[in-house]
Amino acid sequence: MTQPQIQIPLDLPNVQVEHCEQTPQGLVITVVSTSQTAVCRRCGRTIDKFHGYDKEITLRHLPIFDRPVWIRIKPKRFQCPHCHKGPTTTQRCEWYDPKSPHTKAYEHWILRELVNSTLSDVSLKRDLTVACIEGIIDRHVQRQVDWSTVPNLELLGIDEIALKKGHKDFVVIISGVTVKREKFILAVLPDRKKETVKSFLETLPPDQREQVRQVCIDMNEGYRNAVQETLPNVPIVVDRFHVAKHYRDCADKARKAEMKRLKTTLSEHDYAQLKGAMWAFRKPWIALSEEQQGVLLQLFQHAPTLKEVYIQREVLTGIFESRINKAQAEQALMQWLERITALGLNCFAAFATTWGHWRDPIINYFVRRETSGFVEGLNNKIKVIKRRCYGIYNLGRLFQHIWLDIQGRRVLFADH
Ligand SMILES: [Zn+2]
Repeated sequence: MTQPQIQIPLDLPNVQVEHCEQTPQGLVITVVSTSQTAVCRRCGRTIDKFHGYDKEITLRHLPIFDRPVWIRIKPKRFQCPHCHKGPTTTQRCEWYDPKSPHTKAYEHWILRELVNSTLSDVSLKRDLTVACIEGIIDRHVQRQVDWSTVPNLELLGIDEIALKKGHKDFVVIISGVTVKREKFILAVLPDRKKETVKSFLETLPPDQREQVRQVCIDMNEGYRNAVQETLPNVPIVVDRFHVAKHYRDCADKARKAEMKRLKTTLSEHDYAQLKGAMWAFRKPWIALSEEQQGVLLQLFQHAPTLKEVYIQREVLTGIFESRINKAQAEQALMQWLERITALGLNCFAAFATTWGHWRDPIINYFVRRETSGFVEGLNNKIKVIKRRCYGIYNLGRLFQHIWLDIQGRRVLFADH
């Protein structure tokens, strides 16, 4: 019985199909170039004196019905009548790069596969070696920023990621976002030192320096100094999630101390009733089930201070959630600090100290809070990248992978 047949266009410009063959390795399509010229490698003139064929090459192409496809071609050679001794030049076709064993369409497909994925994953699924995939990445993705491809940025972000779980081995990620909210990876730096960050910021082209409206950082004195010394007029803003982590840690410490106390003062039965209190304490009241609220209320009965700590922590989050301007935020935060002092909630003392050092960057958040999507979105993205990039210690490679996830997503999928 014959199988139903279909015809699909090959979609490679200026070629004619000579032959099509099923082999154990897949479908081999032999083509010839229909273009009758080449550009002389010496003088650059267009030449059309045919001089025979090069050795046959076989390039991997996009699979069809989950079967490998290979394009086989004998590149044409042309001779230059203008240059001394008539040198010959191999014709270049736009659909493959002579340095690559794949067609360009195939390589772009693999790059799209790499977005939000890992080398080993794509290697497994596409039956390519890791070295082969790295070759593809190197042919298409730079290892550092190409400023000519970056439109004017209005926000810069400085983030750090630990390269190994639990290790103190940090790299710094510098990113940017345009007015249109398009994100760009700008650098992966080897350490968190002020001089390292400063050296990079000094490479910002002058027009970029003029356009930047804010730099988002976490509470790192080195970053702050690096920004102040290179971009003295640009306001620094501390990501509200770093601020939140700070005061939430204060509240958590108080909870731990109280739990420790209760373990020795409560009966075993009463203490057992507090099971799950840690998770309940970390969540806002409305996010808790009735049962969790019950556990929390029991905890508060035994440790009334924790009730105040919990309430004040949520009040502080509420300030960051509310649509107020910078001056209103400053006032609200100062009132909050007065209140915790009056209530004697010493657990927040560390946050009060932080406020002393970082007041301006903290309240700068309220200037353009409509842009918080940038910080949140990027932080989430970097968290995901971090999970996937454990094991990549080469900064250039790390840059390429983040590029694929951030810029590549736009560039590679633009026509899809
Ligand atoms: Zn020539």
